[in-house]
Amino acid sequence: MNETPILHVDADAFFASVEQRLEPKYRGKPVIVGGSHRGVVSSASYEARQFGIHSAMPIFRARKLCPHGIFIKGSHHTYAEFSQAMFQIFKKYTPTVEMTSIDEGYLDLTGTTRLHKAAYHQIAAHLLCEVEKSLGITLSGALSSCKIVSKIASSRFKPRRLSWVHAAHEKQFLASLPLKEMPGIGPQSLPKFTRLGLQTIGDLAELQFEAMWQMFGGYGMVLWERANGIDHRPVSPHAPKRKSISEDKTFPIDLDSPQLLLEESSRMLKKLCYQIRKNNRFAATLTLKIRYSDFATYTHQRSLDQPSNVPCGLLPTLKLLLKKRDSSRRVRLLGVSLSNLQSQVQLELFGRSAKSQHLEQSLDTLRKKYGLGVI
Ligand SMILES: [Mg+2]
Repeated sequence: MNETPILHVDADAFFASVEQRLEPKYRGKPVIVGGSHRGVVSSASYEARQFGIHSAMPIFRARKLCPHGIFIKGSHHTYAEFSQAMFQIFKKYTPTVEMTSIDEGYLDLTGTTRLHKAAYHQIAAHLLCEVEKSLGITLSGALSSCKIVSKIASSRFKPRRLSWVHAAHEKQFLASLPLKEMPGIGPQSLPKFTRLGLQTIGDLAELQFEAMWQMFGGYGMVLWERANGIDHRPVSPHAPKRKSISEDKTFPIDLDSPQLLLEESSRMLKKLCYQIRKNNRFAATLTLKIRYSDFATYTHQRSLDQPSNVPCGLLPTLKLLLKKRDSSRRVRLLGVSLSNLQSQVQLELFGRSAKSQHLEQSLDTLRKKYGLGVI
């Protein structure tokens, strides 16, 4: 294989597998990880899938399908630890590792054959084995010359499988697959393609490039290329910089009332939450900036166990940070920022806040209509 050897790896039923790894009596049983009974399934063990349970299914339905299943609320903190350990192992094989989600990523294996004295597919197999041996969870992986093919192949062949699509067969491999397996084609866009009579990735690949461009613009162009197995995206080890969002306020007079400081910072928090909710993002880190009368400025930061985008999920942390204030000094400026923003956090894991999430979303509709200050 002369082309760039790109390995995509993805843990099998990650959260459920971690639970089974930690609790031997869960092994071989249907384990369903998800928030409260009002939430949805965030991960289902393969045993649970036999009952027709899958991610994003409402918990109450999963309970109906499998009343004797083991339902677990889940701990983001534990999963993050496993994820970290898993990526540490990946980095032993190549420095070029791109994390795309908590349990999934790309590795560029270029130049590793000499180091490991093995062929690429052997290196990939070793890596999968090492994760299984040391962490007790299984992965699926796929090797090809580009991200799109590796990604599709690793999710197609699961669990505990390693596949290898040779560069010469990539286009052919994609051609027979149903269009919905193409990343970027979701429930919203799929009908548009179906209406055009397109069923498989191959059907799309055979369209004229110009036609795709005229019908779908830049999105169509990218899809057409991917459908043809053309994907030059490199594996970029530096995760895209996580954006943050912040608010601050300099007070007309310096403040020292804890009550007022709490009120002011809560107001900012509310506003920030509203903004990230609009984009369906969740904050995993909260930072409080305090500037005292003499302009000395301090920041206090804390990560959350449960990323959130509703004030009640973040307020306890804000209160903790406010306690770090030097109460002998007056405050000139307060700033609140939300960072480590995540779009793919499985909200269902954080069932405790699901109810307030729902409430806040209804309130957002009102806010949009009548302005932010209404509630
Ligand atoms: Mg996975």
